[in-house]
Amino acid sequence: MSDCIFCKIVAGEIPAERVYENDQVVAIRDIAPVAPVHVLILPKAHYPNILALDGGEGDAALLAGVQRAVREVARKEGVETSGFRLIINCGEDGGQTVPHLHYHLLGGRTLGARLV
Ligand code: AMP
Repeated sequence: MSDCIFCKIVAGEIPAERVYENDQVVAIRDIAPVAPVHVLILPKAHYPNILALDGGEGDAALLAGVQRAVREVARKEGVETSGFRLIINCGEDGGQTVPHLHYHLLGGRTLGARLV
């Protein structure tokens, strides 16, 4: 999508620190990290939010790509053993500020049991 900041990052039109990439996703460092490890996993295709995926066959390649990214980013960032949190915000109440589906991978410190 032409006016989407994450589409522009995926296309290399806006700079970002890439930590991992596969055929489905790009993983970048969040510009305003809330934990020592704060990586965003961005699908290369534009989906406005998680509800744009219907769980059908068409999503299988993307979800496999996301899964590969989670494993590789966790390993590369050194949180594979210590643990991490994976978050998807959706819509206004969910706190989503960028309308391009993305997964936050957070770690590097104890995040605690409270979700909000
Ligand atoms: P959300 O609030 O779930 O939509 O998350 C959007 C995230 O994108 C926030 O954590 C922002 O700090 C991050 N963000 C926004 N612009 C950029 C950018 N240009 N590069 C890296 N991260 C960004």
